[in-house]
Amino acid sequence: MPLTKPVYNNSPELPWVVQKFGGTSIGKFLDNIANQVIKEYVKQNQVVVVCSARSGENKQTGTTNRLIRAADEALRPGSTEYLQIINDLLQDHLGVAEEMINDPEILKELKHDIERDCTKLKSFLEAAQIISEISPRSRDIIIGVGEKLSCRIVAAVLQDRDVDAAFVSLENIIDREFEALDQTFYDYLAERMAAKVRECGNKVPVVTGFFGIVPGSLLTTIGRGYTDLCAALTAVGLGAEELQIWKEVDGIFTADPRKVKSARLISIITPEEASELTYYGSEVIHPFTMEQVIRAHIPIRIKNVQNPRGQGTVVFPTDAVSKDGTATPPHSPKVLAENGYHLDLSRKYPTAVTIKDSLVVLNVHSNRKSVSHGFFAKIFSTLDRYGIVVDLISTSEVHVSMALGADSNERDLPRVIEDLKSVGRVDLLKNMAILSLVGKQMKNMVGIAGMMFTTLASAGVNIEMISQGASEINISCVIEESKAVTAMNVIHDQLLSKQSTLVLPAVKQSTIASLMLD
Ligand code: ASP
Ligand code: MG
Repeated sequence: MPLTKPVYNNSPELPWVVQKFGGTSIGKFLDNIANQVIKEYVKQNQVVVVCSARSGENKQTGTTNRLIRAADEALRPGSTEYLQIINDLLQDHLGVAEEMINDPEILKELKHDIERDCTKLKSFLEAAQIISEISPRSRDIIIGVGEKLSCRIVAAVLQDRDVDAAFVSLENIIDREFEALDQTFYDYLAERMAAKVRECGNKVPVVTGFFGIVPGSLLTTIGRGYTDLCAALTAVGLGAEELQIWKEVDGIFTADPRKVKSARLISIITPEEASELTYYGSEVIHPFTMEQVIRAHIPIRIKNVQNPRGQGTVVFPTDAVSKDGTATPPHSPKVLAENGYHLDLSRKYPTAVTIKDSLVVLNVHSNRKSVSHGFFAKIFSTLDRYGIVVDLISTSEVHVSMALGADSNERDLPRVIEDLKSVGRVDLLKNMAILSLVGKQMKNMVGIAGMMFTTLASAGVNIEMISQGASEINISCVIEESKAVTAMNVIHDQLLSKQSTLVLPAVKQSTIASLMLD
């Protein structure tokens, strides 16, 4: 008598958890994801898996970037390079399928699906070349193939490991015309996504992070990293207990642990702080994501695929819960509190320090021929013309200093400088970095800015620019890049090393521990 194998599937009475996996995690740690993450969580939750396109070594050579390149190539008359790119993608995905899947039936079907997707894509690109046009819509359809291929593999790998998984494509999910990307649209999407997931019944859905043709095109309006938003909206639609963003780091740290030895993992962080850190530090979560789940009072947990037992970092919707008592069920403040979500905001020190490097500082000194409003208008319209994003700005009536990314703006900088010369003298400082101290509680801490700058001065770090917004959640300064690591270390030692005491009661994997601070 053959033994029936255990089957992992979703049980309708359990709470929903949405798990998002990025391209490099799928590329490198799919086995972990299947065995140690999904199989574990499905024991206590209904799991929804949302995947981005596969990356091999890194995002630069990842599937999405290659698809974007294929689209560009198809527009070059006579070029056949795009066919080569698609062939390479086909071979890569087939190779992974062969390597990961044992069951011959599952493998056969998967290979067939991958081949069909790639053949269709080739025809699409051939047609685009003939009419020599790729609209933003078509470009969206092209990149969407990346998530499809990735999810087909993930679903098949799960099936091969006894998880009753279902591939779910969201490419046709939008069945109405929308004018703009507003909340009405997001609410509609959340509902549609949840409905798609529910159609899977007991099966574990593996959902494409690509969710169709949005108003104004996905790449331009939402941008790269749209899978995060997809996972967030799915979580909202389902009223999930938690949205999990799985990465290859343990969570958000008090400083970059590769550069600051004493950096600690942050257990709980507010969305405002997380946004600041995401913006200045490495790309952690797509910015729109945060807003959507926080409105619905759903916590986001950032976790490590290489260390699934770790608690990760929870981005906790404190304001949304505390400000108005009218939080929507099932995530009312009371329910959250009963489930052990608790964040003590009495901590009296900053939350984290972060560095953004590879910057230049552009100084413009007015020639005083125009009054100051004209001066600013001219500067900003010039930046706007070249699509330059300023990371940090500091001004007086006759002088503007701006820090901007050196790499992203390399091509346009000489021309920008040339144009700005009409309003005044322009000089450029290279190899600069922004150091930001971030903390929700800093506004209650008189003297924190003073301490920050005294600390930097005592380490011999010269400050080029200073900025602190009215929210006081972030105090930033520009320093030389060569001093960045020293600066981050002294700031961390002096202002962030006061140890918080973490009390972590035994919890099921999806429950958050309370954080107590001295
Ligand atoms: N694969 C897409 C990108 O690289 C979407 C995502 O990763 O969320 O932007
Ligand atoms: Mg991403």
